[in-house]
Amino acid sequence: MKLLVTGGAGYIGSVVAAQLVEAGHEVTVLDDLSTGHADAVPAGARFVHRSITEVGDALDGVEGVLHFAAKSLVGESVEKPGLYWAHNLGGTLALLDAMRSHGVSRIVFSSTAATYGEPERSPILESDPTRPTNPYGASKLAVDTALTAYAGLHGLGAVSLRYFNVAGAYTAADGRVLRERHTVETHLIPNVLKVATGERESVSVFGTDYPTADGTCVRDYIHVADLARAHLLALSACTQGEHKIYNLGSGTGFSVQEVIEVCREVTGHPVPAVVGPRRAGDPAVLVASSDKIQQELGWKAERASIRDIVADAWNALTR
Ligand code: UDP
Repeated sequence: MKLLVTGGAGYIGSVVAAQLVEAGHEVTVLDDLSTGHADAVPAGARFVHRSITEVGDALDGVEGVLHFAAKSLVGESVEKPGLYWAHNLGGTLALLDAMRSHGVSRIVFSSTAATYGEPERSPILESDPTRPTNPYGASKLAVDTALTAYAGLHGLGAVSLRYFNVAGAYTAADGRVLRERHTVETHLIPNVLKVATGERESVSVFGTDYPTADGTCVRDYIHVADLARAHLLALSACTQGEHKIYNLGSGTGFSVQEVIEVCREVTGHPVPAVVGPRRAGDPAVLVASSDKIQQELGWKAERASIRDIVADAWNALTR
């Protein structure tokens, strides 16, 4: 198929773009490079350096869109909510209108566990309440709401994938290793690995007084290659007039302490950890039920081991 991948120069978008090229699709990556890297675009894809508000002729002949381009820092969203509403909701509405005028009726959207907010139970089901606790999650939820409306009104076929904690690296067929390379790194695993490479002296543990076994937050880590594979299945599942929503996680939770311990074992570095205060807006436990995508699309995490995920991220950093 002829496909457009917005945000395909970013971490997750570039892995999906690589897998699409490897599966034989004709891929155009559209990215404004505000946070992405041009060298992450797969060799076999066309690259358009442009914002999603100016997509224009990049949609010519396109049969489906995989939409990753977004602002994604929770802390920044609390400080600058307008930026998040403008980019994430406003940008996506502009994209949806451009898709309508080009007759493109399939979209796979990069949604998030942050749409749920503080969950009432664990693991989280797609039918559970969505009460985001920050503008990032709220802006992503607003897009999900818009997709439901566009599916009903205009016959769009949409699938939203709600990611839990994505980590690891992917080696593309052309040999390039695609990994997290954020200028502002907020995520746990890359920050712990920065200690092991000597870039940082210690890792901060944001709170040890949560109602969990060891007092630190529990998260559900999914390998980026497994996550990306779900997008190819989602593309095939786009059905005109329907908006489907699926969680994507491995179904198992690991605490911040446990993740740091695995990083110590994988890297052989003592990784000093310094206990700090809680980070605003962090729920104690976020674990996905991915039963729905397993049952309906036949997806399964193949690399669910936290050790594999950390080892891949580490090998990508040190190779
Ligand atoms: N975390 C931490 N130190 C860090 C980064 C993150 O203790 O340097 C904690 C964070 O508070 C959360 C968990 O690790 O409980 C996962 O955070 P991350 O930012 O990786 O993902 P999130 O769950 O926020 O999407």
